Amino acid sequence: MPAAVAKLPPGVRCSISADLPSRRRAALLIDRDGTLVREMHYLHRVRDLRLQVGSAALVRAANDAGLGVALVSNQSGIDRGMFGWDAYAAIEAEIDRRLGRAGAHVDARVANAYHPDHTLRWGRVQALWRKPGPGMLLWAVEALGVAPRRAWMLGDMASDAEAAKAAGLAGCVHLSTGHGRAQRPAALALAGKGFAVLPAASIVEVHALLAERGILPTRG
Ligand SMILES: [Mg+2]
Repeated sequence: MPAAVAKLPPGVRCSISADLPSRRRAALLIDRDGTLVREMHYLHRVRDLRLQVGSAALVRAANDAGLGVALVSNQSGIDRGMFGWDAYAAIEAEIDRRLGRAGAHVDARVANAYHPDHTLRWGRVQALWRKPGPGMLLWAVEALGVAPRRAWMLGDMASDAEAAKAAGLAGCVHLSTGHGRAQRPAALALAGKGFAVLPAASIVEVHALLAERGILPTRG
């Protein structure tokens, strides 16, 4: 594991599925709020949780294709004092349950509580772990046993794409859901040599975009 992400600081939580094979073909790193689930402004109550239409199908397709899937989420609501890690864990458990009903599962997850205006000791380490820093993404690809160049990020914020670029990922699919519409120009501006930013209206379109690049099989 890269030295910078080998030691998790307080304010970062992660988990890895017990049955994760040591090496995956490629990986999907998925932002949670506004991407996998509907944007709910600091989601922390299970009753407010809504999976986006198409989320479970995409995760299941990635599972079936032998890709590793990780959720990679900024949760500054914690350092803002709006909710605690217990509420975060309850949301994650409910996401697992709903994905499981559709035959889909997440292999790894990582989140951080930080925000530059609300974290008591904001510094270099916290900036590494909060997107647009690459720390969570580097941890996730390492946990999944995938080279960064074989991994794609999905997200609604330009900071999702920025973190993906900083981590050396192949690219980011940028969604219009969540905050995506307003973030689109900044996200697209990050595309460049060796880093693709693919615009999509919603997570429903992601399968076809990744199939075009040979990451997922074409749907029959
Ligand atoms: Mg988001």
